[in-house]
Amino acid sequence: MPKHLYLIKEGEISLKGLNRGLFEKRLKNNIKDKLRPYHSTTQRQKGRIFLFVDEECPRERIEKALSTTFGIVGWAEAVMCEKRLETIFEKAKDLLSKFDATGMRTFKVVARREDKSFPYHSYDMACRLAEVVHEVFPSLEVDLRRPDLVLHLEIRNQAFLYTSDNAGPRGLPAGTAGRGLLLLSGGIDSPVAAYEMAKRGVKLDCLYFHAYPYTSDEALEKVKTLARTIAPYLNGTRLFVVPFTDGQLNIKDKAHEDATTLMFRASMMKLASRVVRTEGMQCIVTGEALSQVASQTLPAMAFTDSMADHLVLRPLVGFDKEEIITLARRIGTYETSILPYEDCCVIFSPKHPVTNPDKDEMRLQYESLGMDDFIDRALRETVIYSYDANGEPTGTWSFADRLDRADDSI
Ligand code: ATP
Ligand code: MG
Repeated sequence: MPKHLYLIKEGEISLKGLNRGLFEKRLKNNIKDKLRPYHSTTQRQKGRIFLFVDEECPRERIEKALSTTFGIVGWAEAVMCEKRLETIFEKAKDLLSKFDATGMRTFKVVARREDKSFPYHSYDMACRLAEVVHEVFPSLEVDLRRPDLVLHLEIRNQAFLYTSDNAGPRGLPAGTAGRGLLLLSGGIDSPVAAYEMAKRGVKLDCLYFHAYPYTSDEALEKVKTLARTIAPYLNGTRLFVVPFTDGQLNIKDKAHEDATTLMFRASMMKLASRVVRTEGMQCIVTGEALSQVASQTLPAMAFTDSMADHLVLRPLVGFDKEEIITLARRIGTYETSILPYEDCCVIFSPKHPVTNPDKDEMRLQYESLGMDDFIDRALRETVIYSYDANGEPTGTWSFADRLDRADDSI
């Protein structure tokens, strides 16, 4: 049966030593996950993965998969043929005649000979193929510096030809650096934080504190949409929705007004730490950026850190808002993030929040709030929504069952 063929360029993975096999296996599986139910196979050859996909699979589906899978530096649809001159020229002609060169003025040919037993050198092949390009597009001129069209030839076990070379998202395959829990709000920052950590290989699930009715159903829907939008980068994800209204009301009731945000953040860390432990994850990820708001000063972040039992990663700590927005637009979360539904932090925000908290004083205040029961209850009422690597919903679970099982196993 005919197949689509794509050539995939690996970046950082090819620098990995003994672990390279593991990284590559994960990359191939992550790609295949996104293409299901269509059947696909891969072939690895020095710095390249060749992906063969059933012809019924729409091209857009494959191209979306390749542009959202970390570990891919570049990709291109390719054609493959025998390593015979005539066949290569014919295939090149075929490929070029389907190519839309409207408005293009220049080209170059890049030939690469991995199979050194092939009798023609790269330069020789490039010159011969340039003639083929001229035949198909007589008006195009050679420009080696900034060509509009690039025709690539790679001589390996077979000859491979491709024209366009698309940029991949780079990074390392999701799942190669362990697992973490992203605190996902409906804002602009946290989905971008997810992208940044997934780029370094962390497999992430998301957790959202929902304060119904102070935060609306629409706010929850918005967070679900964000989770679905980032799911392809995360190679699938789960969203833990924690009903935390009672916990927040307790804080509002008992804490000093100017410390309420910090008390909320402390309970977020405590609760998230329980999930991280139960699920066997290794870190908590947030979208905080230094000095963005009162709770993101150095002393405030040091305090929240001290309330977590796990490593807290803040990949956006040195980003400014414009940089975050640019990324949010690129990954497709911005339009959802700016929908107007308020999140609970806004509703429960004090007028004059503490920016330079004393850690010990804050800890004592936190201990006086009796948050443990609220956290226990919220965890038992937490609902988990799961999404596959294409962002499609795959099920809903109660976290209480998982807690019970974890307790049994202690
Ligand atoms: P974002 O930072 O995602 O744009 P935000 O600016 O409204 O949202 P902040 O008050 O800056 O949120 O909170 C900092 C970080 O704390 C967020 O990036 C997110 O990781 C986490 N966070 C805030 N509110 C929630 C929530 N309701 N549920 C889960 N995580 C939250
Ligand atoms: Mg923020």
